[in-house]
Amino acid sequence: MPEVRRTVIAPQSGQSFPVRRGETIRIIDPQGQQVADLWAFVTDGPELDWLSTSQTRDITERIFPRVGDHFYSTRGVPLLTLVKDASPGPHDMLFPACNRWLYERAGLPDHPNCQDNLIIALRTAGLSLPAVPDPVDFFQNSLPDPDGRLDVLASINPPGGYVALRALRDLLVVVTACSVDFHPTNGDKCTEIVVEVVESSDPVGNSH
Ligand SMILES: [Zn+2]
Repeated sequence: MPEVRRTVIAPQSGQSFPVRRGETIRIIDPQGQQVADLWAFVTDGPELDWLSTSQTRDITERIFPRVGDHFYSTRGVPLLTLVKDASPGPHDMLFPACNRWLYERAGLPDHPNCQDNLIIALRTAGLSLPAVPDPVDFFQNSLPDPDGRLDVLASINPPGGYVALRALRDLLVVVTACSVDFHPTNGDKCTEIVVEVVESSDPVGNSH
């Protein structure tokens, strides 16, 4: 049996974990309706590079990912593949992470937020960035209306809903359990996210 490294990300927090090329990452929402933000940073190359949602939208010509789609880096390099979607989706690639200023605008200073949780997780891993990338927001229910309006509705992910991603490079992955508790985004209750990294006995080749 392949080794499985399991991490429980407490409500309104985040963690980083190294993932090797060929490994599979399962992002599981045990209680349902909980958005999980994901970032990925390349660790096997000489240059700092990371998952870019705008590059991914451009190259896949889609605003929401489907099974079989890759997630691309700022340089257009495929980093991850969505290999399984055991959730009703959708998975947002348009929004930034929630951040301290969003909560301040809502009258909630000093509120936990995904951006600060990302920065803390990266600092713990010894990585500092010149900018804050936008995440992939798994299970976030924010399909655009035909007139372009973007509203974030309550997630429709059921308990146990999950996605699985395959790493195409060695990566440092950060996942946060989104902190929004003043809006229905997370079903009015912030809960934990479980991440399982499954070791591969069948590493991927170089053909993407
Ligand atoms: Zn958030």
